Amino acid sequence: MVVERKAYAKINIGLDITGKKENGYHLIKTIMQQVDLYDVITLEKIESGIEIGTNSKDVPTDDSNLAVKAAKILIDKFNICSGIKIFIDKRIPVAAGMAGGSTDGAAVLLGMNDLFELGLSEEELCEIGVTLGADIPFCIKGGCALCEGIGEEMTTLENKTEMYALITKPNLNVSTKHVYQSLGLSVGPAVGPEHPDVDKVIDAFAAGDTKKVAATMGNYLEKVTASEYDIIEELKHDILMAGALGSNMSGSGPTVFGLFDSMEAALVAEAELKDKYPDIFVKATGVING
Ligand code: ATP
Repeated sequence: MVVERKAYAKINIGLDITGKKENGYHLIKTIMQQVDLYDVITLEKIESGIEIGTNSKDVPTDDSNLAVKAAKILIDKFNICSGIKIFIDKRIPVAAGMAGGSTDGAAVLLGMNDLFELGLSEEELCEIGVTLGADIPFCIKGGCALCEGIGEEMTTLENKTEMYALITKPNLNVSTKHVYQSLGLSVGPAVGPEHPDVDKVIDAFAAGDTKKVAATMGNYLEKVTASEYDIIEELKHDILMAGALGSNMSGSGPTVFGLFDSMEAALVAEAELKDKYPDIFVKATGVING
């Protein structure tokens, strides 16, 4: 038997760092929104072991792959006697701030739950998922959510907006760990005028007001990534000049996106920027896990 799942990417529409814990973890407050960009994960029962394959040279094919970690945790926890063969058709840019690894891990948890008829609820899958990564519960539930704590405290948000994202990942590698460390925060709450007001973005979502979402969103992590790589500000500027209502980096970067309230406007901007940024593309938002 074979199970196929779409593993959707996310963008962060507003991201603040609200503090640092004693254990060194940073507290975040961010709105995560899935976009219509996905890896395709194929799962097949085999006699024993975990086999992993992918079409991407950037994806690890060892135990560090989050899809392998997810399979291993279920096999061990539920004493599954057979093995699993996983294939990742990678379409989400890797190390881009779009939760590419987390969403593959989430898809394996969801897919194996079906394949092996484990009967686990979404909540139970999230509890297992969070032990592998703070973004995995969001990737399991999907849609749009306010994520707090280290990213695992989720409040589902209704996204009433019509919203399209023009997305591009500059050709550079940004380490999430390095970005957080370079913030140089001390233990305790982090406040100040340079912090984005995520509550305003939440209100704009509730009002279904894409313009207000775009105008109020901000990403505190740009402080580090944009100061190290000029391309981030250049991209934001070019995307705004091409008609976006607002533009931000996603996660710790380096992906940059612009928001539009119509597909037509987003496609016009894409056409305008395609020569300079060949990897630019438009995706609708508001996708629920499929
Ligand atoms: P996030 O937005 O959650 O911070 P990201 O989109 O920035 O994640 P990923 O695409 O998950 O980053 O890649 C980060 C690293 O994770 C990669 O360099 C790779 O070594 C590792 N990795 C592990 N599993 C996967 C996977 N299934 N797909 C892609 N990368 C993976």
